[in-house]
Order: sequence, then structure tokens, then C-alpha cells
Amino acid sequence: MTEENNVKLEGFAKLGISGALLKATLGAGFTQPKPIQEQAIPPFLEGRDILGVAQTGSGKTAAFSLPILSKIIALGTKRRPRTARALVLVPTRELAVQIEETVRLLAKGAHVSTALVLGGVSRNTQVRKLAQGVDVLIATPGRLTDLVREKDVVLSETTWLVLDEADRMLDMGFINDVKRIAKATHPARQTALFSATMPKEIEALANGLLREPVRVEIAPQGTTAAEITQSVVMARTKQKLQVLSGMLANAAMRSVIVFTRTKHGADRVTRDLQRDGFEAAVIHGNKSQNARQRALNGFRDGSVRILVATDIAARGIDVPGISHVVNFDLPDEAESYVHRIGRTGRNGASGIAVTLCDPAESAKLRAVERVIRMRLPVTGDHTSEADPVHSARTPAAEGQDNRPTREPAQKAGQQHPGRRKPGFAHATAANDGGRKEGKKPFRRRKRGGFGRRQAAKAA
Ligand code: AMP
Repeated sequence: MTEENNVKLEGFAKLGISGALLKATLGAGFTQPKPIQEQAIPPFLEGRDILGVAQTGSGKTAAFSLPILSKIIALGTKRRPRTARALVLVPTRELAVQIEETVRLLAKGAHVSTALVLGGVSRNTQVRKLAQGVDVLIATPGRLTDLVREKDVVLSETTWLVLDEADRMLDMGFINDVKRIAKATHPARQTALFSATMPKEIEALANGLLREPVRVEIAPQGTTAAEITQSVVMARTKQKLQVLSGMLANAAMRSVIVFTRTKHGADRVTRDLQRDGFEAAVIHGNKSQNARQRALNGFRDGSVRILVATDIAARGIDVPGISHVVNFDLPDEAESYVHRIGRTGRNGASGIAVTLCDPAESAKLRAVERVIRMRLPVTGDHTSEADPVHSARTPAAEGQDNRPTREPAQKAGQQHPGRRKPGFAHATAANDGGRKEGKKPFRRRKRGGFGRRQAAKAA
């Protein structure tokens, strides 16, 4: 071990992490604690509840995993069948997989068992794993509700509970499941709740579940990472694919995540990009777990340049080196913008976020600007161009802001003139934004006990 490593080890050791855990932490490349880890680990080790206002990317997984693992290791390996000592509840399957990977990495060398309980994959394997009892269970609320109801897992011995991305669980209609699950855990449990935003429902949830929590706030609500260059390109909905294709002709867009508002929209954008010759894959809630994981793996290993995603499916995706985020549609919920663009500019890297905005989406754009407390510069305007289906290319009206009552663009950023590509015409009709689907990705489940499961699937 180098002297440098010895010095850096001090960081986590100072926070109270020791032995095999400290070694694994360093092995995972976590040399210097992140601010959220500095603030959350010591009080969590002391037994305090934590209320964390932080986004994915802040390092919160290790902030809650390290103290829990530390306590589990100290207790030794005494697992009872069908129980879980710690439970981490998350909104999406991808986030669950990611957290389990981190927990396993950090627990390397220690005898700590982990299990995943999530929808979209066979439950038999999950039930078999739970039968032996696990130390750390990472679960999405829907499938866990089923397994608790069937008594495949009993939570009465769960003494550590983490609710991660609580605001997203609320958005997805999981809040009652979350409350029921929390109620089924040990009454003297220690709880940590993390949320990127703090709407009043989450404040209320936190008040109900946490006892005199230590509040850890990493970035003020709605703040976007300083490293991300953000801009807006005005384009009518039916021009957006052409504009996007033109942008993608720029090789600097090496690894791009494109957000659409609806699953249907995501499928169409993907299909059209593929027809235009781009390597694109799609990830959303109607895709099987295997297809989602395949798309993610391809994006991670670089064989897929463009990942098209809906908000919920993309939640928590942590792929290093995403160079650009393109918002093909403005999100229905302004807060989602912060999560979307947070996929780039991670770990101090720089990133670029471009939002394609139809004039009809101006109100949504203003809502985003209110959340991030800044005006986004408009760096391109295609809205004065003729219908791309029926006319040849026209130059972009650069630097103009076509939004009503808005000032001219504040700064010139990336300029991505729309470019007509062969085979484009087929694509235009596909871009009506999928409005028919509207905003109802989930059906809420009926209230009461661990009753009959309704179809509330993670997108
Ligand atoms: P999270 O917010 O937990 O999803 O973490 C975001 C990213 O930061 C992940 O890729 C982690 O592997 C990484 N990370 C977390 N803590 C540290 C640390 N102390 N040093 C370096 N990387 C970290």
C-alpha cells in the first residue's frame, strides 16, 4: 500500500469505518469521503436517523451502506430464515441492481449476504434466497409487498431501513406500500430517508418515520451541477428528430442519453435513430428486465452510443462518462429535469445538457427554470423553418428565443443546426410526443394491508 493510500485511508477511518470494510472501501476506489458521506456516516454509526436531501451521484449509497455494513459485521453472522436485517427500498429496478453492486463491492471480504427483490424477473429465485435470511435486502416496493403478503419474507427483525429516492417513490404511487412496509419493520429500527427534493408529502413521510433525524443536505433543492453546460434549442415537435440527428452528427456527442416523456415516444425515437444509422437502445418500463439490462450494459461498454429513456426507467442510472443529455421533450414534472441532466457531469466531469423545446412547451420550460433558479440560454431556434417533411433544409435562426415574453439568449453554447438526413421523412410523423399516453405510468394500488397486488410496476 502506498503512502498516499495510507493518507487517504484516513478519510473513511476518521469517520469510523474500520477493518475489512475500510479495506474494501479503498479497494472500490473510494479513497476520499464525499461530503454526504462525511456528514451522514458518523451520526448513522451513532444510531441516529438520517434525512438526506441529495441526488444520485452525491455518493449517498456508500453514505448509508457503510454504517449499516459496519453494524452488521460487528453483530456477526446470525441470520434467521426469511428475515432481512437491513432493507433498502428504492423506486426502480436499475437503482436496486446498482445499489446491490455497490453494497457487494463495499462488503467484499466480509460475510455479508445481499438479496434483490424486484419486479419483472422470476420470484422463485428471490424467494429461495430469502428463505436462508439475508443481511441486506434491496427491494422495489411492489414486489416486496407481494413477498411480505405471501410471508416469503418477514420484516419484523429488520432494524435498518433506508428509503432511497423517496420523492420518486411518491411520484410512482408507491407511497402507501412504503408506509406499510416501514410499519412491518422492527419498531426500534434505525431509518434513513434520502430524497432529491422535499415536497410536503415527503416531509410528512419523514416526520412519520424518522426520529429526530440528522438532516444532511448536499445540494440545495433544485440546484443543478455546476459542471453541466445547459442550453435550449427551440424546435417544433415534428422537427425534433431532425434536429437531434443533426446534433448527433457531432462526434463530440460520444455517449448520449435522450429523455422522452413517454414510453411510446422513447420507442419511436429509438426506432427512428436506428433507421438513421445511429447505435441506439431504449430503456423503459414496458421492457423486460433482461432487455433493460442489455441496453444499459451496451451503453456502459460503449457499444451503444445513444440510450433513449423515460424518466422513471432512467432514474438512478449511474453510467460514467455520459457526455450529453438531450431532453427530447420537457418533463411533466419540472424536478425531473434536475435528475435527467444529473446523468452527465458526474463525479466532477463536465457534461452538456440540451433541451429541445417546442413553443407549446414554454410553460414547462419556465417551470424548470423556476426549479433550477436560472434562465436557460437558447442557443438555437428552428421554429421559423418550414415543415421538414415538405421542404428542403433551411438555416437555423441562431441565437433567437422564440418563446413569448422571453429575453434574447444569454449566451451562445452548442449550436446544432438541423440537418436533413436520408430516410428522415419516415420519422417525422413519429414525433407527436406520444401525448395520448399522457402522464399515467402507474396505476395506484388500493389501500389496506398487504392486500391484493395491483399492477404498479416500475417504469
Ligand atoms: P451514488 O450517489 O451513491 O450513486 O454515487 C455516485 C458515484 O460516486 C458512484 O459511481 C460511486 O461509485 C461514486 N462514489 C461514491 N463515493 C465515492 C468516494 N468516496 N470516492 C469516489 N467515488 C465515490
